[in-house]
Amino acid sequence: MRLSGGQALEIAETICRTASGQSLSSAGSHVIMYGYIINPDSREEIDEALITIMRKPRSYTREDIVEINCHSGIVPLKKTVSAAIRQGARLAEPGEFTKRAFLNGRIDLAQAEAVIDLIKAETKNSCDLALKQLKGDLSRKTESMKEGLLEVLVNLEAAVDFPEEDIEPLERKQLIKNLSTIIVCIEQMLEGAEKGMIYREGLKTAITGKPNVGKSSLLNMLLRKERAIVTPIPGTTRDIIEEGLNVQGIPLRIVDTAGIREPDDLVEEAGVGLTRKTIEEADLVLCVFDQSQNLESEDMELLSITKEKKSILVLNKSDLSTKLREGEVKKLSGTRPIVRTCALTGAGLEQLEGAIQKLVFDGGAKGTEDILVSNIRHVTALEKAVGFAREAEATLREEESEEIIAMAVRESLTELGRITGETTSEDLLDRIFSEFCIGK
Ligand code: GDP
Repeated sequence: MRLSGGQALEIAETICRTASGQSLSSAGSHVIMYGYIINPDSREEIDEALITIMRKPRSYTREDIVEINCHSGIVPLKKTVSAAIRQGARLAEPGEFTKRAFLNGRIDLAQAEAVIDLIKAETKNSCDLALKQLKGDLSRKTESMKEGLLEVLVNLEAAVDFPEEDIEPLERKQLIKNLSTIIVCIEQMLEGAEKGMIYREGLKTAITGKPNVGKSSLLNMLLRKERAIVTPIPGTTRDIIEEGLNVQGIPLRIVDTAGIREPDDLVEEAGVGLTRKTIEEADLVLCVFDQSQNLESEDMELLSITKEKKSILVLNKSDLSTKLREGEVKKLSGTRPIVRTCALTGAGLEQLEGAIQKLVFDGGAKGTEDILVSNIRHVTALEKAVGFAREAEATLREEESEEIIAMAVRESLTELGRITGETTSEDLLDRIFSEFCIGK
């Protein structure tokens, strides 16, 4: 249990008794004391506990924090929480500790968002990415771009304030150069954002094909490998584990698994054993065929409707005799990768995973060594920021008045400020922190 705020120590004092008899308020900071949680009214012991004291400002929230580690269990936990509430504490809102850390200036908004990303991360890469953001990589980069813009702005404003000191043409050139550097920097960040968002949110993947080609078996094949890695977290349902896959560090979200599990419904719904909507919404489509059968009209339709999608053709049942010649499929596949699998033995699994990795990241870097923007909120801010920076650059070239140029630079600064939370509305903050669970 974590208490934070001006009364944290005071309240903890009334519900804890240290074994040494030393009072909590007389202890220093970053100290762990051994003792018991007690009912403040009856003085009865509730649980054995270790009590950690972190005094402001050296704490997660920058407020006084007391953390009580006990054996817990529903009854002692309820009694402890209820005792604290009777003494004046209240239950934290979702993400409130992190929100306070943000409001008290210990972390910025991008870092606060990284906390939730870290908690939700499903692959090592997603985790690494979140940790980098938490440590301030994105914030520092954003700050350095802001400093660049600010320097441009100062120059422009000086010219506005002292019109007799017009900006020299040479200086204008330098300002254009400065802006270009910032523009390129933002563009690079935006280029990597697709990858970052996949790490953070997972790749929506649809496994489609007519009934009986082996879609469920294929999913199970992919999952079987996964199960060895994923440790079920208590409280998460089996379904959640089954729908998330880790393919060589890329988190996949299998969409519409209900369709996969109930092929009868699927047939009824789409008439051809495919759900167009699922395909439309997917980032990646695995088109499954039974290579022991000739292609039928449904297969042809699947090939046709997925033509423009990022898709992989999976020729399943490779253990059976081949009716489907690869040449024939190749003609129809265009440039799409083709992989042969046997969902019963797992043959072809590695090739399938390799094809996914190559298709998604173009065989590029697997790691997260660069700063990767992974959040749509940051992407939107960067897109707007680069738009205004381009406008500023263009107006500079066109030798517009300093006021007009400065306006665009200021807008660009505001957008960058949204990433770190300097210019963010209360509504947005509420929305961001409501995604957290209680206690974080
Ligand atoms: P779905 O309707 O597309 O989901 O297909 P299922 O996964 O339910 O598989 C249909 C049938 O094909 C089942 O009897 C599977 O055991 C079988 N099957 C799936 N994959 C293979 C494979 O690679 N080889 C063989 N021989 N049978 C398979």
